[in-house]
Amino acid sequence: MRTWIVAGNWKMHNTNEESVALAKAIKDGVSSLKNGEVVLAPPFTSLYRVAQIIKGSSISLAAQNMFYEDKGAFTGEISPVMLKDIGCTYVIIGHSERRKYFHEKDADVNLKVKKALALGLKPIMCVGETDEEREKNVTRAVVGRQVKEGLRGVDKIDNVVIAYEPVWAIGTGKVATPAQAQDVHAFIRAILKDIYHDAAAGIRILYGGSVTADNISELIAMEDIDGALVGGASLKTDGFLGIIKNIAGEK
Ligand code: PEP
Repeated sequence: MRTWIVAGNWKMHNTNEESVALAKAIKDGVSSLKNGEVVLAPPFTSLYRVAQIIKGSSISLAAQNMFYEDKGAFTGEISPVMLKDIGCTYVIIGHSERRKYFHEKDADVNLKVKKALALGLKPIMCVGETDEEREKNVTRAVVGRQVKEGLRGVDKIDNVVIAYEPVWAIGTGKVATPAQAQDVHAFIRAILKDIYHDAAAGIRILYGGSVTADNISELIAMEDIDGALVGGASLKTDGFLGIIKNIAGEK
């Protein structure tokens, strides 16, 4: 019922030439997709070039962040109107690196999610606990708050994608066990069910955190894991295509 998604978050990597080469290689490798979607999130500077390459293919474009106003005197920010204009379908919102280094709060995430939806962009809203929070046994309290606050005032959930990314697993090589990830994914789905009832069953919840072609198969076999948000491994063609192939084979 839910179609899988594999999203590659290139973060602050790749010049235009590097982005073009990677996008072309990925496009060549994913010519036929069954029941799923591949999403590429290059840096802002490469969005236009990557959009030209994936045009007409089954790959969608995402931005890694956006501001919550359409336009105005906000030096250095990028508006969702601009992202739509350049060809984005998705936008990553509330990534833990935005929360950590740029002090984004749940209230900012909420403003961005609502604005993205209002303008027809699909938010990939990231949530996840730190190492310390997991140690203190407050994972559910933290993730529950992030989900509820991030979605506050959102009436229609259909176009929202959630990414559960334990902060301790991002870029560390310390991947969550399938049981740990499934436990939080099921918890998130239960929260969505409380708020959105039957619509919760159709919401894609991605796992992110040190995903590779070697560890994705057992994660994606879990009932409530509908795909992956991939950082480091999305920068290498073979690694990313391996993840896509393993997900497509399982779901
Ligand atoms: C991410 O940045 O969203 C991420 C999951 O990174 P990595 O795959 O490198 O852990």
